Amino acid sequence: MSNIILLGPPGAGKGTQARQLVESRGMVQLSTGDMLREAQASGSEMGKKVAEVIARGELVTDDIVIGLIREKIAEGAEGGFIFDGFPRTLGQADALGDLLAEMGLSLDGVIEMAVDDGALVARITGRSTCGGCGEVYHDQTKPWPADGKCSNCGSSDVKRRADDNEESLKTRLMEYYKKTSPLLGYYYAKGDLHSVDGLQAMEAVAADIAAALEA
Ligand code: AMP
Repeated sequence: MSNIILLGPPGAGKGTQARQLVESRGMVQLSTGDMLREAQASGSEMGKKVAEVIARGELVTDDIVIGLIREKIAEGAEGGFIFDGFPRTLGQADALGDLLAEMGLSLDGVIEMAVDDGALVARITGRSTCGGCGEVYHDQTKPWPADGKCSNCGSSDVKRRADDNEESLKTRLMEYYKKTSPLLGYYYAKGDLHSVDGLQAMEAVAADIAAALEA
């Protein structure tokens, strides 16, 4: 069993690769972005509180996301956890280290998905996901099937994120460089960091991640 972090800017492909790892290794994906969107959809107080912050592309407070992750880690995962979109600040990274230690778990690797900024706008603005199963589509590279039904589960529920627009993306990138990219140095210093070229085809990225996990 291993617990890993997928680290990279919005649009780097963290969610897509996490889904692959869930399928191939039986790992459990913990995406704080998904958890926050679920909270929003459920209309909970917390969901209402974070809605505007997310729409603007800013980070929600450490307390909120650490609380969400704490609950999930406590549930355990036989195949190990994939942290997708968490941690995003040094405070969250420290908190994750503490939470894992409390549970007697270790962090086995941090995968940096490196993608240059120019590619991110195109990736983000064309993307959609299936509301039924979470399959990821893209207007240019993997459009929805012509019959309007998801090729994976048959659902016709196409979801586009409200924050997947150029304006929010600018803020999301700024937040990434200011607050999240310092984690690369943090994990490099701990000896946990592996970097993969996220611009390659999905299968090639998956192969590089698998090789990094074996290393
Ligand atoms: P994501 O789905 O990972 O792109 O996250 C969508 C949005 O949710 C982000 O732009 C933030 O507003 C918020 N968010 C997700 N994860 C975190 C986190 N670890 N810390 C703070 N905000 C987060």
